[in-house]
Amino acid sequence: MKLQNYINGQLVEPVAGQYIDNYNPATGEVYSCIPDSDEQDVELAVKAAQAAFTAWANTTAEKRGRILMRIADLIDQNLDRLAEAESIDNGKPLKLAKTVDIPRASSNMRFYGTAIQHFASEAHYMEGTEAINYTVRHPHGVAGCISPWNLPLYLFTWKIAPALAAGNCVVAKPSEVTPMTAYLLSEICMEAGLPAGVLNIVHGYGHKVGAAIVSHPKVPVISFTGGTTTGKSIAATAAPMFKKLSLELGGKNPNIIFADCDFDNALYTSVHSSFANQGQICLCGSRIFIERPLYDKFKEAFVEKVKALTVGDPLEDGTKVGAVVSEQHMQKVLSYIELAKEEGGTILAGGHQVQVEGRCAKGWFIAPTIIEGLSAECRTNTEEIFGPVVTLIPFDAEEEVIEYANCTAYGLSATIWTQNLTRAHRVAHQLHSGIVWINTWLLRDLRTPFGGMKSSGVGREGGFEALRFFTEPQNVCVKL
Ligand code: NAD
Repeated sequence: MKLQNYINGQLVEPVAGQYIDNYNPATGEVYSCIPDSDEQDVELAVKAAQAAFTAWANTTAEKRGRILMRIADLIDQNLDRLAEAESIDNGKPLKLAKTVDIPRASSNMRFYGTAIQHFASEAHYMEGTEAINYTVRHPHGVAGCISPWNLPLYLFTWKIAPALAAGNCVVAKPSEVTPMTAYLLSEICMEAGLPAGVLNIVHGYGHKVGAAIVSHPKVPVISFTGGTTTGKSIAATAAPMFKKLSLELGGKNPNIIFADCDFDNALYTSVHSSFANQGQICLCGSRIFIERPLYDKFKEAFVEKVKALTVGDPLEDGTKVGAVVSEQHMQKVLSYIELAKEEGGTILAGGHQVQVEGRCAKGWFIAPTIIEGLSAECRTNTEEIFGPVVTLIPFDAEEEVIEYANCTAYGLSATIWTQNLTRAHRVAHQLHSGIVWINTWLLRDLRTPFGGMKSSGVGREGGFEALRFFTEPQNVCVKL
């Protein structure tokens, strides 16, 4: 299957006619190819977006919302097809794609399709001076949206939906590693009647297509989700051009378990928060800190549960852990397991590649891995691995675990398990994490600000924050 770019309402070949192999990570085989686009394709996309902008910006919020909701309905109607495509493209268990990724993609569309109808600006009446200031929020024009491979359609729509709802036209680039559902979305947008040029999807490599979007002078706003190193290079290009930037970057999230926690809930959820999507969710808790009196009990039960997770064919029902996204990523994760051993870590479970029988014999699988015996400051515990690997670290005091939790350059999310709510709040407020969960994980309300502190990013997505990001406020002062 040959994927195509979606530019000016049409599916088109890349100008240079070059393609990139697209792999199924569960089989290790090429199963489709995607456009190896370059700045010429980005130029066409930007031109189409510019041409569509005035009409789209002047379309009523209600009508824009209605089209987004039609896209949401079509995503729901194509749930099975999209979920299977996501699972094949990414390696994630089909069940996960069906219950999390794809439903969330339609929720994103529906959420912003309705949110824009409730988005209001402010007015400030100046007593004594008899004047009114009111704020108009203008869409920027062409927004650039760049997304990663771990939650492909979920994160792609999380950016596109608010950008479009706010009246921008979009040039978007999905990850070249997982392009399939973005391609299927372009078909859905055509069916939904999204006007030509309002959304343009250009496939290809980050250093070509991504860089061309970021450096394009007619794209004044960039929303990016991906690695911290990529974010740094995007910021270096965009800052001197005075572009507005939203950067959602890497994480190294602490999962803090106090001895008084609801043990079964903490245990069950920690298995999930460690290994869901093969540990390739930016919000996964990769460092588990356990209060010493509970350490041995938790460790024993956790190792037993993790060893029982079925690693295998993502399309099979019983599979809990699918393939990691690429051979290159598998090698990166395995190299971190070697590093952990060099740093003195003990492997309690996993620690190796898994050979799956049958059709997946050449796929890229890693056994869920648990490591103990490392300091909180070592490289294994401070660098992002982004795979099915967690470490266990005991602690004695609250101040100590706060210091451990905060000792990385990242600050995306954190989880706290305790029945003592006073302590839970006290600890939460001292964590340098943009998102804190207490006695739960990954419970998301789309109205809340989403994003990281420190090297985990700049700005917040979610709710009205994203609509503010995708609009330019203008103050108009009227003397009465
Ligand atoms: P990545 O940074 O390699 O790529 C992300 C996207 O950027 C891809 O589409 C890629 O093609 C593009 N890109 C690469 N180089 C570029 C450049 N120079 N200019 C413009 N675009 C470029 O990240 P990845 O490996 O796809 O994703 C994994 C990373 O994403 C992890 O670090 C993970 O923590 C992070 N992530 C963060 C969040 C969050 O919300 N904070 C969510 C998911 C993933």
